[in-house]
Amino acid sequence: MSARAASAPDTDAVVLVVNSGSSSLKYQLIEPAAGRTLAAGLVERIGMEDGHLQHRIPADDASFDEAVVVPDHEAAFRVMLGAFAAHGPSLDEHAPIAVGHRVVQGGARFFEPTLVDRLVKINIDELSALAPLHNPANLAGIEAAEHAFPEVPHVAVFDTAFHQTMPPAAYSYAIDRALAAKHRVRRYGFHGTSHAYVSRAAAEFLGRPVEELRQIVLHLGNGASACAVSGGRSVETSMGMTPLEGLVMGTRSGDIDPAVLFHLHRRAGLSVDELDRLLNSESGILGLGGHRDMRDLTHAADAGDADAVLALEVYTHRIRSYIGAYAAQLGRVDAIVFTAGVGENSAIVREWSLAGLEGFGVLLDADRNRERSQAARRISADDSRVEVLVVPTDEEFEIARQTLAVVAPPPVE
Ligand code: AMP
Repeated sequence: MSARAASAPDTDAVVLVVNSGSSSLKYQLIEPAAGRTLAAGLVERIGMEDGHLQHRIPADDASFDEAVVVPDHEAAFRVMLGAFAAHGPSLDEHAPIAVGHRVVQGGARFFEPTLVDRLVKINIDELSALAPLHNPANLAGIEAAEHAFPEVPHVAVFDTAFHQTMPPAAYSYAIDRALAAKHRVRRYGFHGTSHAYVSRAAAEFLGRPVEELRQIVLHLGNGASACAVSGGRSVETSMGMTPLEGLVMGTRSGDIDPAVLFHLHRRAGLSVDELDRLLNSESGILGLGGHRDMRDLTHAADAGDADAVLALEVYTHRIRSYIGAYAAQLGRVDAIVFTAGVGENSAIVREWSLAGLEGFGVLLDADRNRERSQAARRISADDSRVEVLVVPTDEEFEIARQTLAVVAPPPVE
């Protein structure tokens, strides 16, 4: 049985998962109990002249690419429905009982998946102040989906929700409390859906109740964040009020002395918008090593490019610092878990990140670490006190599972 199916409810219900960005719509039709994706797709370049659709049916190993015209999110849903009608699977036969929506920012208001109604939409809209690039697009997707699927419940699943269990000491910034409260300045954390799924899947892999485990989950993708998970609850995470804080990422700097911004404003004349672009879009491994994609950076480092080597060193040095910090917060570490594009695939990042941690009971097995696989696996040595795992993340499946739990909760025994 797959990790997906193992954690799914016992029903043959189908859920449509929607991840709506400002210019794209990603969707998956999922049967959580079977751990099966019936279809997955992507409508890109919404609002532009040259839209594009990709619709995939994994069971048939089939993929369809088409040029489409998509002026807005409503049109994107019509394109999606057209793809199901033309290529299958039939939405009459596999009618979703609910639609689950990824919503980036749930603020301090949403700490669990929530049935969408008028008030919830007002709140998501209002939280756009904290996530201006994401929440408006998420809301546009919800409203367009409500038109396309008016008969079924819609559920919002927030990236921030899993981290709402952090204590005030972890989420408060040391600035004026009244100012922070007025403008809702605090750490919210992101990638919560992934951290929730991966920490549970890691416990399943180990055959131990998640309630017993203290884990450090490292979600290393284009965006990257670390999370300290104690007993299945997030107690600390590296992303902050926005996804800019914490680890070094593809194009984001992660942690930086805030006074660097004052300095660059005063001395280099950079405006607020330019500084925003610098730290969010032109920094990270791109800024340091000239490549935003970890594969390209690793190739350059292999070829002897000194900037690329430094970028890899900074990237993994930062991860190691967070492991140390979170070990101290947790008091004990049972497992370190790598996930997402870089975490699942880059042996060198995993090796360098854990280098020198032998004294803390972290022993990597070099062969296991180098082995390539799509499955959850152990990469620590047999005599490692801390389990080191690679667990592929699956945010869409987690959204489907949480959505189902809201609309069809399991009976109380
Ligand atoms: P994600 O945001 O989870 O899709 O992860 C994207 C990142 O994963 C990019 O930086 C990719 O370069 C990286 N990635 C994907 N495959 C590999 C690989 N085989 N080796 C190293 N990095 C990879």
